[in-house]
Amino acid sequence: MNGSNKFAIDHLGIAVKSIEQALEFYCGALGMEVEHRETVTAEKVKVAMLPAGESRLELLEASEPDSTVAKFIASRGEGLHHIAIRVPDLNAAVAKLKAQGARILNEPRIGAGGHTYIFVHPRSTGGVLLELIQENLI
Ligand code: ZN
Repeated sequence: MNGSNKFAIDHLGIAVKSIEQALEFYCGALGMEVEHRETVTAEKVKVAMLPAGESRLELLEASEPDSTVAKFIASRGEGLHHIAIRVPDLNAAVAKLKAQGARILNEPRIGAGGHTYIFVHPRSTGGVLLELIQENLI
């Protein structure tokens, strides 16, 4: 953490029909590299992480037909799915957001890469599905 700004864009989540096909663009044409791939069973998604400076692109492909990513693509097409911001204290952020009436979509969960995360509904954030992340929260 440098300076007084403890927030950072951790990653941008992009919903795609096929990670393999998307990688032809991001890696094949653009020259980015895949740092990590996994299937997150709880979220019914396959994930590929592509580093971009301090941040990353997170390609998301549905692993099951009833995945939220499949529903997102069915209604809105492929595209930017969510923005993930790293916060210094996730529990404090959640408490404050709840107190202000923001719509939190899940209790803090351990996700890909071992970080803890929650999602905030787009209605509370100016139209963007927002993921808040804290590293190494026990
Ligand atoms: Zn994410």
